[in-house]
Amino acid sequence: MDKRRRKQFKALRTGHPIVSIASFIVMCVLMSMIVWGLAGLIVNYIVDSKLGAEYNDLQYMGRVYETAVDMADRESVYKLLDAEGRDYYIYDLNGDILYEHGENTASLTAQNAFLLYTDDEEDDNTNMIMVRTDTKIPLLSVSESGHIDYNVIKVISSFGDLMEYTSEVGTASVGGWAGEIFNLSGAVVKIPMWIDMPLGDSGEVLCGKVFIKLNMTDAFWLFLLFGLLAILVLVLFIVILVNLIKELVRRRNAAKIFFTDLSTHGKNWMWFLLRGEHYMRSSAAKRDTFAVVNLVFVNYRNFCICHSIADGDELLKKIDAYLNKHIHKKEMCARVTGAEFALLLRFNEKNELQNRLDEIVKDLQHIDDEHIFHFQAGVELIGIARYTGGKIIKRRYFDMEIAYNNACTTRSTMEGSEESGIAFFNESMVADRKWIDSVQEKQRQAIENEEFQVYYQPKYDPQTDELKGAEALIRWISPDFGFVPPGKIIPIFEKNGFITEIDHYMITHVARDQKRWLDLGFKCVPVSVNVSRAHFIENDLAEQIRDMVDEVGTPHEYIEIELTESAFFDDKKALLETITRLKGYGFVVSMDDFGSGYSSLNSLKDMPLDVLKLDAEFFRGEDSGVRGEIVVSEAIRLAKSLNMRTVAEGVEVKEQVDFLASQGCDMIQGYYYAKPMPGPDYETRMRDNEANLKRAAESVEAAEYAGLFERGLDAAGERSADLGGTAAFEEVGTAGGEA
Ligand code: C2E
Ligand code: CA
Ligand code: CA
Repeated sequence: MDKRRRKQFKALRTGHPIVSIASFIVMCVLMSMIVWGLAGLIVNYIVDSKLGAEYNDLQYMGRVYETAVDMADRESVYKLLDAEGRDYYIYDLNGDILYEHGENTASLTAQNAFLLYTDDEEDDNTNMIMVRTDTKIPLLSVSESGHIDYNVIKVISSFGDLMEYTSEVGTASVGGWAGEIFNLSGAVVKIPMWIDMPLGDSGEVLCGKVFIKLNMTDAFWLFLLFGLLAILVLVLFIVILVNLIKELVRRRNAAKIFFTDLSTHGKNWMWFLLRGEHYMRSSAAKRDTFAVVNLVFVNYRNFCICHSIADGDELLKKIDAYLNKHIHKKEMCARVTGAEFALLLRFNEKNELQNRLDEIVKDLQHIDDEHIFHFQAGVELIGIARYTGGKIIKRRYFDMEIAYNNACTTRSTMEGSEESGIAFFNESMVADRKWIDSVQEKQRQAIENEEFQVYYQPKYDPQTDELKGAEALIRWISPDFGFVPPGKIIPIFEKNGFITEIDHYMITHVARDQKRWLDLGFKCVPVSVNVSRAHFIENDLAEQIRDMVDEVGTPHEYIEIELTESAFFDDKKALLETITRLKGYGFVVSMDDFGSGYSSLNSLKDMPLDVLKLDAEFFRGEDSGVRGEIVVSEAIRLAKSLNMRTVAEGVEVKEQVDFLASQGCDMIQGYYYAKPMPGPDYETRMRDNEANLKRAAESVEAAEYAGLFERGLDAAGERSADLGGTAAFEEVGTAGGEA
């Protein structure tokens, strides 16, 4: 999977909620800053306006003390101060209290609150008085001018401390907290507080108790403001939180839609690809062995044609549900497209995996009560060391697309079959795939450049060694790949449909060669051309062939059409029609590869064929024994009784030739006589054949003339057999492909 897609997935999976949460937190911080700023302003205003007078009083007391302190009569000064009615005390440099009046609640909580003087010259607020808690965090400062400043942030963070402090002071006082604060005669709320102030340069300090007094209106506004502020905070908080939740839900839903398959409502390929890759690269998957499976429901298209797409979708849903039920923890399943599913399975032993897949395929075959379906699975194994080749694949570089592609390539080896099956990936499959791709890429250019060549394999009469026919076989002389045999290209062309063009090409080229040879005076024999099974579905095939041959001007009897046995299982009516028409136009029609599959004896009876080609398998391996001979002789007998000629293919040894001759086989096409050869070599064969015939005829004439007819015929026969024998071991083929 490419980097861009991986990034997109990451953003969808994790990125956005984090951004949402981060913005939520930032919003909350901003909101609280604003709220506390507002609260600070309110408190500032109250303290400023309500504490100013109290502070002036205290300052006045300080001035009185300062002016009077030099005088001998301190007592009268104290009396004067006492007359103010305030609770206060004076302490010296050592902190010893020189005088006190009233209830000294401050001294009881001296460590909680003490008052400090600062004369920091760099500070604008020189000579300010600071109220501090025991943690020495300034709560509020009062400048000499009587103006009270707040360091807003500090005040915010310590406002609670201030209330706590005042309550502690209140509790310690005689009147108690409530009595002290709520004074119904006068102010509604009185918040006590100790402020100290330096007395000249003496180092002595006057510490007096002041009150922040709030009346009914102040309290009302204060409560109202704080109430509104609280509501505002709450509303804002709820709005932001609801939006955040909405955003997260929306994102989850978007991801759900993005990763949901429309037909099965289960997971889709995107999910499999992204999650699978992410998971396989994770440490959780590190030690496990996995199988990436491409599972295809083979009959899906047929099922949809016979039923409906909706029914097909229902079936896909069932399959998806079954697969999801079957998979274990840390495994995955998703529909890819059409009737194709991707699975990620864990396994320990390959056998165990094989059994599991067998079971899945078996269960799925009966997923519907009324039908039996077929499923094919291609499997790529992913382990610490890859199973095939033992190559170590680092999980970091794991690519789900490649792994799945390999599984698909593996599965594609079963294409063409409608049966269930399981195949495991191996490296050669990639090479095969590459070959298929390069053939497909070059096929058009190859046909245009006439890179395909016609090779001819002669067919001989085993009785007389006379050339009776030939089969045209394709060879690709590629500038890129050299000599390519048909086995490497025909199956590809059959799959991709290019075979019909190849068949046209071969018919035209054979017709041209035959025409040229006839014009040159060669004694030509029919040449058979393979017509692919895919071609036979075309209604006007017979006419197409006729027109192609007529365009060249070759007499029809020199062209034979070979049709492989397996084609006889297709639409028999259409086949019969085509064969009849071909024969009507004067072409010879033969059944190729008879006996290679399920021999269609019935077709033999029904089809008006001219030639039966016995498959090479009869003359190879186990079948070539006595039982094989019985089958071959019976097939020849059957063909004869149906007025068909027989050609035995793949005959390599003399014993087989003798046996076939004894059974009355009409022609032999095999390495014993000749391998497929290029046109010029075939021309030589035709010439040799003519010379042989001529010689044989002359011998017959001479024998007749000498009245020794019987003996002369025998001599001609022996000589011909000698010729055939030597030909069998001639190496033919210009490009060296006919090994
Ligand atoms: P086929 O039609 O059965 O052709 C006979 C194949 O058997 C040829 O293989 C031939 O070389 C081989 N053969 C003949 N005698 C012997 C023998 O004594 N021993 C052995 N071992 N092999 C023998 P080839 O040429 O490789 O062709 C393979 C197949 O490719 C053909 O099987 C045919 O199905 C297909 N094919 C070849 N040319 C064409 C073509 O032009 N069009 C179509 N549609 N198919 C073609
Ligand atoms: Ca053939
Ligand atoms: Ca054949």
